[in-house]
Amino acid sequence: MAPPASTFLPPHGHRLRLELTVLMALLAVLVTLGVWRQSKESAVEKAHALFDLRVEELAHAVVLRVADYEQVLRGARGLFAANRAVGAREWHAYVRELGIDSLYKGMESFSVLRVIEAADADRFVAERRRDPDTADFTLKTDRPREQYVILSFVEPRLPRNAAVIGRDFGTEPDRAAALTRARETEQPTATAPIRTFSQPDDASRSFAVFIPIFRPGLPLETIAERRRALWAYVSSVVKIDTMIDGVVADLQREVATDAVEGMVFAITDVTDPTTPLPVYDRGLAKAERPPETFSRTVAIGVSGRQWMIEAAALPSPQARQANDTPGIWTRAVALFGVLLTGLTHALGVILENRADLRRAYARLAEREAELDLLAHSDSLTGVANRRHFFLVGTSEWARAKRHGRALSVLMVDVDHFKAINDTHGHGIGDETLKTLAAACRATLRDCDLMARMGGEEFAVLLAEIDLAAAQAVAERLRQVASEMRVPIEDGEYLSLTISIGAACLCSGDQSLDDVVRRADRALYAAKAAGRNRVIVSNQEELPLFALTALPDPSPE
Ligand code: GH3
Ligand code: MG
Ligand code: MG
Repeated sequence: MAPPASTFLPPHGHRLRLELTVLMALLAVLVTLGVWRQSKESAVEKAHALFDLRVEELAHAVVLRVADYEQVLRGARGLFAANRAVGAREWHAYVRELGIDSLYKGMESFSVLRVIEAADADRFVAERRRDPDTADFTLKTDRPREQYVILSFVEPRLPRNAAVIGRDFGTEPDRAAALTRARETEQPTATAPIRTFSQPDDASRSFAVFIPIFRPGLPLETIAERRRALWAYVSSVVKIDTMIDGVVADLQREVATDAVEGMVFAITDVTDPTTPLPVYDRGLAKAERPPETFSRTVAIGVSGRQWMIEAAALPSPQARQANDTPGIWTRAVALFGVLLTGLTHALGVILENRADLRRAYARLAEREAELDLLAHSDSLTGVANRRHFFLVGTSEWARAKRHGRALSVLMVDVDHFKAINDTHGHGIGDETLKTLAAACRATLRDCDLMARMGGEEFAVLLAEIDLAAAQAVAERLRQVASEMRVPIEDGEYLSLTISIGAACLCSGDQSLDDVVRRADRALYAAKAAGRNRVIVSNQEELPLFALTALPDPSPE
């Protein structure tokens, strides 16, 4: 009868909790991966942006360095504007003051080129020879020309530089082109990458920058006018390796980034796009370029020429590591996800336990109701049991006695029930008892209490019913029982009779037992009188209350 213990474990809640927890865990993993991916991307983007910045800075630094050189040249032009009689000695003093060795790294020489018409060449050479510093001055040219551009004096005064004094610069095409352009634009103008006259065996590249000096007071509107007014050039030779090394050294002092590593770059002169000229290479040509390599090209203007800086670098180990290992945010989000998942799980457990508890309470209430019913009902017939009969009957009896109300009891017993059991078996006997109880219950009022007192014996408590009315009720029951048909095997039926004893509450009664005892005795009388009959107790001389006239006491 008791439900199996497993009924108390609700299966649905567990599944719901599991699904919620799994859902939350999935969500946490997704969000974590998203944040990680985002941070990975931003690490790469950051490294790339820093790389771009470094290339821009490099380009800017080169432009600034060249601007420095131009500034020195412009200063020298100013010197000649102040005093055209500047000689080798004054030039030496001026250049020493500039400190080109330390301030303008890469500037190899700093010279003055005089523009001399062919007719004036001899006079110019003679004049230079009068200067004790250039006593052995000679014009070094390969052919007689209309106009010479002759190196007049040069600093620093190294033997290799001294060898260039007197050289006609107009004979060499790269230099000649730059000289013409400088004259026409009046701006500092660089040559294509060249080898220097002073170190023809040095394979490293240089470039020369020229700035023109015109005779004062002459018109400079047309090319012809500028050509006529041209007096000299100030010139400087820059060794590219030294210049770029200096630029890079200064850059590294200023910009330290851990985002990129092994930055390589090359510079190409692309003034004539059809013939790019290599200017400088710092590892780019030989560099391997895996797919993650950053690269960038920046164009700059260098004293009238176009240079292109092409740079490449790899993300630094730190940047790559930042790419592979989750950062602080990723870890925080992951931790939060784990916490949230745990909380969801815990919440699920709590809610589910509460639901379990509610269900268990409901089951318990059901069981209690069932037990309650079992406690006061007969399990075979479903009518009240003997204990309940006396429990209810006693209080009814007391109430009737106190308020002077009628109360009757019927004792009912199946006739020759033993024979039914013996003939048809105990099962049919039980079936008979159930059918009889049901038939009686259907005949009685709802307020009448029918109980099984034991075996095939029943009692009926009739509240507000006096003896005469009780007798009538008993008669009806007897009638119903005699008409009852209980099915047995082969479509046959058995019938039965019952005997009933009736008694009512009397003035001298001390308890319900007194009424029951008298009803029992009347039942015994009914049996003795031949069964299938109702006998009213003949000891009811003083019924407490009679609603109708007392019947004649039946003979025993
Ligand atoms: P009488 O007319 O004198 O009452 O005769 P009887 O056979 O009905 O009376 P008796 O007291 O001799 O027999 C009662 C029988 O009822 C005996 C017992 O086996 C049977 N009995 C008692 N309780 C149950 C029950 O719960 N189920 C069944 N099938 N039989 C029961
Ligand atoms: Mg009997
Ligand atoms: Mg009996």
